[in-house]
Amino acid sequence: MSTSYQIASIPGDGIGPEVVSATIQVVEKLAKTLGTFQINFTHIPWGTNYYKEHGRYLSEDALTTLRKYDAGLFGAVGDPDVPDHISLWGLLLAIRGPLQLYANVRPVRTFPGTKCPLNTATGGIDWMLVRENSEGEYSGQGGRSHVGQPWEAATEVAIFTRVGIERIIRFAFETAQSRPRKHLTVVTKSNSMRNGMVLWDEIAASVAKDFPDVTWDKMLVDAMTVRMVWKPESIDTIVGTNLHMDILSDLAAALAGSIGIAPSSNLDPTRKNPSLFEPVHGSAFDIIGKGIANPVGTFWSAAEMLTWLGEKDASAKLMQCIENVCAAGILTPDLGGSSSTQGVVDAVCSEIEKLK
Ligand code: ATP
Ligand code: MG
Repeated sequence: MSTSYQIASIPGDGIGPEVVSATIQVVEKLAKTLGTFQINFTHIPWGTNYYKEHGRYLSEDALTTLRKYDAGLFGAVGDPDVPDHISLWGLLLAIRGPLQLYANVRPVRTFPGTKCPLNTATGGIDWMLVRENSEGEYSGQGGRSHVGQPWEAATEVAIFTRVGIERIIRFAFETAQSRPRKHLTVVTKSNSMRNGMVLWDEIAASVAKDFPDVTWDKMLVDAMTVRMVWKPESIDTIVGTNLHMDILSDLAAALAGSIGIAPSSNLDPTRKNPSLFEPVHGSAFDIIGKGIANPVGTFWSAAEMLTWLGEKDASAKLMQCIENVCAAGILTPDLGGSSSTQGVVDAVCSEIEKLK
């Protein structure tokens, strides 16, 4: 009997439903064609429409519900009618924290059909970005006083814990160790932030001793942006805080060629909770309903999900099918092509058919 996986499908807002439904078609086709695993997607309607109806982004028993699944596939959150900090905290951050999805992992690789704007020896980049996903600058702690007065003040407290830093740095070293180049760059800002960032530096130096086969360096986040553009070949795996890697990962996705293809995994490396997989892009309301959303970021996220679930072979085959389709020039308009979302789905399904 092949393993059967139960997946929570949370399409969310904007183009989320379009890219998630595209991905379900492709993954179901893969499972059926290979016959080596089974997969069932259960639709969960959380998002801004749910909020407009119920006054909350998630159901009250959301965490208990999610824990019944092996993993979650998420589309996007964000709607022009609702301030972003309400939708983001209402949905994604309300899941990531309690489920301790503390590692956000983003492979960044130039794909066939995408154009890396950098001049690299290989014509592209191949990096792995690891973002601390549970604390730091996005702790949500702080407040405002003297509201509306000229002397109004606001604090936004970044909380860094030894446990939180150590577990993400250890995870990043393990990730770097699993890659051919085995190099890790630890990004901080310890020249101007003398508490939490210095603790990051200290813990990195200490954890590094457990990984003698991994080379590593540390870099200030501002200098890192320059290095990403000027010396992309010197980079392999990067780890940093919630805020720093939020910014660097968008930069990296753009440097790889497109935000529409970039995947992201929110992992609980202890595997006590289901991990959540989602494309890097947002709800992109400007193209909603036009049938041209690029589904590749969500396809790749689903491939990452299959790897996490233990289906490495199926994941590699899916990636090959996606790359073949991109290499054949079957691309959505954001990548300069003229294909529709469904056109890309159909082309990937035809590639999968050839795996028989
Ligand atoms: P959010 O506020 O959730 O970040 P957004 O609307 O700002 O959402 P982004 O993901 O930041 O969307 O993308 C910026 C722009 O890039 C979009 O407005 C859209 O034009 C384009 N874009 C993003 N994702 C895709 C995609 N999957 N396919 C095609 N175009 C995309
Ligand atoms: Mg955006």
